[in-house]
Amino acid sequence: MSESLFTDASRRLERALKYVSLSEDTIERLKYPKSSLIVSIPVRMDDGSLRIFQGYRVRYDDTRGPSKGGVRYHPKVSLDEVQSLAFWMTFKCAVLNIPFGGAKGGITVNPKELSKLELERLSRGYVDAIADFIGPDVDIPAPDVYTNPMIMGWMMDQYNIIKRQLSPAVVTGKPVTIGGSLGRDTATATGAFFVIQNLLPKFNRTPWETTVAVQGFGNAGAELAELLWKAGYKVVAVSDSQGGIHAKQGLDIPSIRRFKEANKGIKAIYCEGSVCNIVEHEILTNEQLLALDVDVLVPAALENQITAQNVNDVKAKFIFEVANGPIDSAADLILEARGIQVFPDILVNAGGVTVSYFEWVQNRSGLYWTLEEVNQRLQHKMVEETEAIWTKSQELSVCMRTAAYVYGLQRLGEAMNAKGTRDYYLNG
Ligand code: NAD
Repeated sequence: MSESLFTDASRRLERALKYVSLSEDTIERLKYPKSSLIVSIPVRMDDGSLRIFQGYRVRYDDTRGPSKGGVRYHPKVSLDEVQSLAFWMTFKCAVLNIPFGGAKGGITVNPKELSKLELERLSRGYVDAIADFIGPDVDIPAPDVYTNPMIMGWMMDQYNIIKRQLSPAVVTGKPVTIGGSLGRDTATATGAFFVIQNLLPKFNRTPWETTVAVQGFGNAGAELAELLWKAGYKVVAVSDSQGGIHAKQGLDIPSIRRFKEANKGIKAIYCEGSVCNIVEHEILTNEQLLALDVDVLVPAALENQITAQNVNDVKAKFIFEVANGPIDSAADLILEARGIQVFPDILVNAGGVTVSYFEWVQNRSGLYWTLEEVNQRLQHKMVEETEAIWTKSQELSVCMRTAAYVYGLQRLGEAMNAKGTRDYYLNG
């Protein structure tokens, strides 16, 4: 049997621990999630039957602040996956110096099989089950795979009903009209774009000589593909759960996005006004997309997409992890040995949690920012922390992932020490 996602995720920590001096207490504490909740959610279906769904919420660590993390709706959600995602959130918030700990949630469900009303009952039922576990000062959910602002709005509303008070800061990623932040819907992609724009010039790369393939055409992947396309990169391939398309001459991302929005699928089209034509292209599987001979590969779907099985097929020179955990630890070592530059999830996709933090701040202060303010602050944070991790990787001669973990570990270690160290208690 293959090892768990969480065991694999923890390996990254083991590598980084060699480069940072931490108390034994800190190392021991970071090995375990603080608390893990498993809930059963009874939902009345439209045909009158009752279905019970399994849900999870894991708070990994809250030393640096209330825990924070998205909620995923997917048939493969498991406690192991949610724990791993909560672990990554802990490091992501530390890396970005956001005053939050890490958490994650999920429901094992295929949301595409539910009606809108069933989805609403499920989302409200999930909050009923975890209401005592979350809160604006405790743990703050947000969107992730197959959850969106509408679902976040239902979750906030249900929490408010239970607590008989208005607490917009209990959930982020809400619709803007009920306390969401401008720019949250595009934040993950915008943050990743700032990271890419900051790092590729260090390798003397310009957008117009850089080809890109993006796996996953959802909130994060489609928006990033469009930002890259606008900046002059040649986006030659994109995919969703059904498969992908590849066109050597480059794809017209805005046309494909409009098509996907209207038809729930992707098609290699180019539109001028309302006239659309199919462009020359080939159909790909997701496996084939990962093996394309491109400069930049962006996994923006799910974890464990590049493993020991297919890592030697990867031909990209740079990989920017927009998805959480798309590369397993065995594949990571092989990519490094092959000289392929991997930029880690806990930095690249941190724009989402950064603007979630901005949303929480706005909810609590009651003062709302313009889109320009949000994006300026996001850019400042992403560039500052990217530069710091880049410098650390050069100083220590380690890959960017190890450098990011070292950096996050230092902040977590300092916060844990501030609450009392072994030396303090033993030596007085
Ligand atoms: P989403 O639900 O908006 O989109 C997911 C996309 O992945 C869809 O296009 C879907 O068709 C595709 N997909 C699903 N299964 C696939 C498969 N087996 N192969 C290829 N494509 C597949 O989700 P999202 O918010 O864009 O999240 C994508 C990734 O980014 C996840 O790993 C998530 O954890 C990560 N992430 C998201 C955010 C955020 O704010 N939304 C923040 C940080 C990280």
